[in-house]
Amino acid sequence: MCRICGGVVNEFLDLGRQPLSDAFVEPDETADEFYYHLRVGVCESCSMVQQLAEVPRERMFHDSYPYVSSGSVRMREHFTRTAHDLLECESTGSDPFIVEIGSNDGTMLAAVRAAGVRHLGVEPCGGVADVARAAGVRVRSAFFEEAVGAEIAAQDGPANVVFAANTICHIPYLDSIFRGIDALLAPDGVFVFEDPYLGDVIEKNSFDQIYDEHFYVFSARSVQAMARRFGFELVDVRRLPVHGGEVRYTLARAGARTPSAAVAALVASEDARGLAELSTLHAFAAEVDRISRDLVGQLEKLRDSGLRVAGYGATAKSATVTNYAGIGPDLVPCVFDTTPAKQGRLMPGSHIPVRPAEEFAEYGADRLLLFAWNHAEEIIAKEKDFARGGGRWLLYVPEVRLL
Ligand code: SAM
Repeated sequence: MCRICGGVVNEFLDLGRQPLSDAFVEPDETADEFYYHLRVGVCESCSMVQQLAEVPRERMFHDSYPYVSSGSVRMREHFTRTAHDLLECESTGSDPFIVEIGSNDGTMLAAVRAAGVRHLGVEPCGGVADVARAAGVRVRSAFFEEAVGAEIAAQDGPANVVFAANTICHIPYLDSIFRGIDALLAPDGVFVFEDPYLGDVIEKNSFDQIYDEHFYVFSARSVQAMARRFGFELVDVRRLPVHGGEVRYTLARAGARTPSAAVAALVASEDARGLAELSTLHAFAAEVDRISRDLVGQLEKLRDSGLRVAGYGATAKSATVTNYAGIGPDLVPCVFDTTPAKQGRLMPGSHIPVRPAEEFAEYGADRLLLFAWNHAEEIIAKEKDFARGGGRWLLYVPEVRLL
């Protein structure tokens, strides 16, 4: 049953037994790993692409949650720009108030704070919330939901903007989120969120965008239907080049704003390409299978030819590809990553050891499998000596290829 509208959900992709994508395990803890069955379907009524099983939120989002927004220079720049966009275009009145759901380490809100604007982050993970607080960002430690929205409104007054990046698609219980936003948002306020876009996932075969935390994959059509269901209207969309292709959705209360032409244009382009049709989604599933087999074939060839292989970027999304394709330390002996909390641990399910990025040069890789393909430009520029020394990058999005 559809988590948004109760309609019939047709499964189109079975990604098999998967661990928690951010649960990097100690070498002696592998026996206790949590797994679930990752299946994806589309709602016949509202087109929402969603998982068929939910992982309890506390298993994914806890005090040792390892993802930090500030890990990429490009994302830091993106969030500074985002803050300025919100401040310029959406913070109305003499004393505006901006709330961010999933504020993480405060990267976006730090720019709002620097502008002297009232703000509040809502973030359940203690570690990253403390990093934000240390930077002077105001954070409430909680999962955002209906009651939290009402409490913030009672304490701080209505919000002009409720913003979320890479968070709304993580939350199955969006009915409660919308009720919380309804309680919190000023009459002319906006709810702005950005998340990976179904159009990009299908076009780029980026199936690793689907993992435990990414419960939904949004499109303009599904967000439009969802907004209407909860008393809102999709009034603007903007495609973003970050994280492999996202859309920023702007929602206002129904009737409060006239939707921009960009909304109708994006919905029409989705309809024209049959984005939410089962035939399209089944064709995508066949591509997922082909690419996974190609990738394993390429890695076997590299291993058999005696080349030194490693992974680069122990991303959450790499859990999907390694566990679905069956890639373990025999094919990728280790992966380099800059996140201290992941180093010395094993990647979830695949048990590929994670090593500090500083050890990368001394390892002397011939080929690097770029799990963090969404940051390809930034990483390849940073590691230019690798290619200069004859090393080559192995990518699998949108196709398996060596750069
Ligand atoms: N917004 C940041 C960014 O884009 O870099 C962080 C994104 S991170 C992938 C998802 C964040 O959402 C995590 O920090 C997580 O703790 C938070 N989160 C998950 N469920 C939430 C909820 N119900 N309310 C508030 N935050 C939530």
